[in-house]
Amino acid sequence: MNPTPLEIKRDARDGLTISWRDGSTSQIGTELLRRECPCASCKEQRGDTSHSKPLTTKKRGLAVIQNTLDEQLDLQEIWAVGQYALGMRWGDGHDSGIYPFSLLFELGKKS
Ligand SMILES: [Zn+2]
Repeated sequence: MNPTPLEIKRDARDGLTISWRDGSTSQIGTELLRRECPCASCKEQRGDTSHSKPLTTKKRGLAVIQNTLDEQLDLQEIWAVGQYALGMRWGDGHDSGIYPFSLLFELGKKS
């Protein structure tokens, strides 16, 4: 199935409301959106190994936590990526996650 949104609204306080072509509506909070960010580095942090891993072992750098949780959960901007996905920029500057509509549809069922 390929879910198609008819309308995507920013909620005033928290997250997105998406109306789907099949008549259902998803309300997805920012915390869930950020936690499920589909970019490679967030997947790696979550221990999600479903994406292909480079063969070389990464050197472990010093982890510096630069941003507060509030910043990480501050959804600043969303935009369409082609006909299939949304891009999002967060308060800490993170914007590499591309959220396919199929993922948003699944997240809508979780929240
Ligand atoms: Zn990410």
